[in-house]
Amino acid sequence: MTASRHEVAVVGGGMVGASLGLALGQAGFDVVMVEASAGGATAAEGPFDNRVSAISRSSERLFRHLGTWQAMEGARLAPYQAMEVRDVASGASIRFDSADLGEPDLGCIIENRVVVAALEARIRELDNVTWRRPRQLRRLADCRDGVRTLTLDQGEVEAALVVGADGAHSPVRRLAGIADGASDYGHHALVATVRLEEPHGQVARQWFLKDGPVALLPLPEAHTCSLVWSTAPEVAAELASLEEGDFLERLGEATQQALGRPLTVTGRAVFPLVRRHAERYVGPCLALVGDAAHTIHPLAGQGVNLGLLDAAALTEVLAAARDAGRLLGGEATLRRYERWRRGHNLLMQGAMMGFKELFGLSFAPARVVRGLGMGLLHRASPAKNAIIRQAMGLSGDLPALCRADTADPAAPLDRES
Ligand SMILES: Cc1cc2nc3c(=O)[nH]c(=O)nc-3n(C[C@H](O)[C@H](O)[C@H](O)COP(=O)(O)OP(=O)(O)OC[C@H]3O[C@@H](n4cnc5c(N)ncnc54)[C@H](O)[C@@H]3O)c2cc1C
Repeated sequence: MTASRHEVAVVGGGMVGASLGLALGQAGFDVVMVEASAGGATAAEGPFDNRVSAISRSSERLFRHLGTWQAMEGARLAPYQAMEVRDVASGASIRFDSADLGEPDLGCIIENRVVVAALEARIRELDNVTWRRPRQLRRLADCRDGVRTLTLDQGEVEAALVVGADGAHSPVRRLAGIADGASDYGHHALVATVRLEEPHGQVARQWFLKDGPVALLPLPEAHTCSLVWSTAPEVAAELASLEEGDFLERLGEATQQALGRPLTVTGRAVFPLVRRHAERYVGPCLALVGDAAHTIHPLAGQGVNLGLLDAAALTEVLAAARDAGRLLGGEATLRRYERWRRGHNLLMQGAMMGFKELFGLSFAPARVVRGLGMGLLHRASPAKNAIIRQAMGLSGDLPALCRADTADPAAPLDRES
């Protein structure tokens, strides 16, 4: 059987890979998507899924440009207008408000499956993006004459550029011999969906305990939140195995009963948190995006947002290369992508590490510094606003697809009007 040949093969159709495939498809590239799962993600029926993401403004803009935002809004998502962060040991707190920035909200909490379902539906409308699923990548040949051959569990495909969007354990990264620079955060994250006595009021809340941060993220139902509780591995295991009543009691203590008593918990699951940063993002006819290139602590909800910036930047770089008649998989093209994204992702990862370390220190001077720092920051509006603007993806060197000023009549900023 002869292999089908394409300009780009994207391995992995998660949130980042599907966004990249769609963006490239809309830019006119011939794309094949290789995905291990069978697909058919269903958007928004039944109980809330325990896997959600805080989607930043830059990611929202990307989805608007891709024509998927309306479907996500029509399914279910929860905008949040404020974020409160509290250091339990010092009692200090800081609050970020969208009104202070002249923004309608700080971002939206969306179930991951809602994002993927909207992307898949839009991809189905394009003739130049095809799926190979459920198919597993098994082997990756070296780049020869500007083409790489991918061997799947059934069949082969060839492409001028292979993009690994295949997640934290990326087979593409491994088969290309790129080290992942992994180091353990010493935390596991327990996720779940919880119902609480008091309404969340569209506020995202986070408490820094001595073992790690606990976040309650508002969901579309007023009394329901998504829980992300990052803590020592043995504590996460214990929390996961507690009877519901005992678990709810521990959660109430950890969150200082800020939303009254937690009433129910469903979908408890635990994920180890590992920091990774690929030693290279690119190679001959090869690039990495999203978790395949970097994984980051979820405490600031940045992981997928960074991956979506990778996808938008790579699309822009490839379109420019095509217009200039350069090879898609050539070094000059791909280095530009790496230079654009690697420094930014490293910076974000370093900042998350700093937060985790600072809040993990329990000795008295650290508590005082944290308390003073948060108090000062809370009062210093310009510094506070600069931090939140960066986290929202409103500043920095953004790809065109993530900017508001990029003309696209298909993307009315209706929530912002
Ligand atoms: C507890 C937790 C909370 C988080 N909260 C947030 C948040 O609030 N905001 C945020 O921005 N980020 C958050 N993140 C991070 C975010 O979930 C990830 O960054 C994001 O899911 C990565 O998406 P991806 O598409 O790069 O990878 P993945 O979602 O892992 O997708 C990889 C895809 O590749 C496919 N694949 C794998 N191997 C193969 C193969 N051999 N052949 C074919 N296909 C293959 C898989 O089936 C999968 O579909 C959180 C992470 C955790 C653990």
